[in-house]
Amino acid sequence: MSFSDDEIQPFPNIRVRERSLREVEAEIEKDFWKKNAIKAVKDRLYRKINQSISQRKLTYCVDHQTADSACSATAYLGGVKANLGTIGVTAAVNKKNCTAMNNAENRVDSLATLFQRKGKRSGFVTTTRVTHASPAGVYAHTANRQWESDTGVLKSGLDPSICEDIAHQLIFGDTGRNLQVALGGGRKNFLPTDVIDEEGNPGKRSDHVNLIEEWKKKKEEMGVKYQYVWNRLFEPGHMKYNVDRNKDTEPSLEEMTEAAIKVLQTGDEGFFLFVEGGRIDTAHHDSWAHKALDETAEFSKAVQKAIDMTDERNTLIVVTSDHAHTMSYAGYAQRGSNVFGYAGMASDANLYTILNYANGPGYKPMLEGERYVPSTEEMNEVGFKWPSTSPLKSETHGADDVGIFARGPWSHLFTGVMEENVIPHIIAFAACVSDELPCEGYTKEA
Ligand SMILES: [Zn+2]
Repeated sequence: MSFSDDEIQPFPNIRVRERSLREVEAEIEKDFWKKNAIKAVKDRLYRKINQSISQRKLTYCVDHQTADSACSATAYLGGVKANLGTIGVTAAVNKKNCTAMNNAENRVDSLATLFQRKGKRSGFVTTTRVTHASPAGVYAHTANRQWESDTGVLKSGLDPSICEDIAHQLIFGDTGRNLQVALGGGRKNFLPTDVIDEEGNPGKRSDHVNLIEEWKKKKEEMGVKYQYVWNRLFEPGHMKYNVDRNKDTEPSLEEMTEAAIKVLQTGDEGFFLFVEGGRIDTAHHDSWAHKALDETAEFSKAVQKAIDMTDERNTLIVVTSDHAHTMSYAGYAQRGSNVFGYAGMASDANLYTILNYANGPGYKPMLEGERYVPSTEEMNEVGFKWPSTSPLKSETHGADDVGIFARGPWSHLFTGVMEENVIPHIIAFAACVSDELPCEGYTKEA
C-alpha cells in the first residue's frame, strides 16, 4: 500500500496572528507575486560578483506554511504563489472552485506557455503520472489536483464538461496540445473504464473517451509528425520505483531525459524541458528512505545526462525541489559509514539511527518501557519503513527552505534567499521569453 500527496489533510489550527485583509487580498493578485519576483530578478541583475554565496528558496504557499506539489509547481513554473492543492491558477482560486478556475484572469502562464509563444519547443518528463501535480504545472489550470480524470471531477460532485480534468487539458489545452514531449506514467486517466490497457488494467475515465486515440488524431489533424515516444505512458499509475522496475520494458529517468532532449533539440529556436524525479517524494511519504535515496541518485543521473547533452554557453539548467520532507540525517557517524545504520548510543543506553522521520508510517510504540530500535537486518531491507516520532499513515512534507542549483547563462542570478516564484522569472529572462522583463536593454527602477 502506498500513500501520496493525494491524502493531504490540511489542519485548521489556531493561528498565532490573523493575517490582515490587506495581506490576504494582495496575495491573491497575480501582480503581487509578479511585481515582487521581477524586482528580485532586477536586484540580482545589478548585484556585484561574489556578493552572495548561498542559494536557498522559500516554498510556502499562500494559505499554508508547507507546500504541496500543486501550489509549489504553480510558483516555480508559473511565477505566482497559489493555494494548497491548486495548479496554474492564482490564490483567488480556492480549492475545488471551478468557476474561479475558469476565469481567465485567475490563470497563470507556465514557462512552457511562454516558450511556446516564442516558437520554442517544450516538454516534460516525470516518473509519476503525467497528470500528477508537478507535471500538471507545465500545462494545466485546475482548482483541484485530484481532478486528474473526469471521474475525479465527478467525485467532487461537479460537471467535467465545465471543470476540465487534467488529462483532458494535456490533450486539448492550449499549452498541453502544443508540447513536443510528455513522458511518464498515468495511462489510466486517459482510458475509459471499459477499456483494458496493454498490461491488463482498466482505464479511469467515465466519459468513454479514449484520450490516447484522440491525441493521435489531434496530432494528425495538426499535421505534426508524432513519434511513439511522444505519448508513451509507461504505467497505469506512477512509474515503478527504479529498484522495482523491469529494466527491459520500463526506461529510467535518465533514458527518458535523453529521449526528450533529442526530440527537443531538433528545433532551432531552443527549448524548455521540465524533468521530475517524482518518486523521491512518494518514497518519503511511505518512509522508504532506501527508495527515496535511490530515486535521488537516479535523478542525479538524469541531471548529468542533461549536462552531457547540452552546452553550458547556451543552456541554463536549474535544479531544485518543490518542498522538503521530514527525513533527517543525524548524529556523528564516521566517514564511510553505511547511512542505513546507527549513529551512536542514545541517553537511554540504546542505539539511535542515522536516518529518522519526524512523522510517518514507520512509528513504533514503546514495548515494555523499551524504545524501538531497528535491527541492522531491518535497516538494510529496501522496503523498510524508517522510524518516526509521530505515527501517520503518510509522512508529510517539510516547510524547510530547499536548495537551488544552476548552471549556464545567467545562473549567477540564482543566489541568496529567494521566493520560489522568482525562479521562472529568471528562467524567462535568461531565455528571452519574458513579457515583463525583456532580455535586452533592461533598466533598474529607482
Ligand atoms: Zn508529496
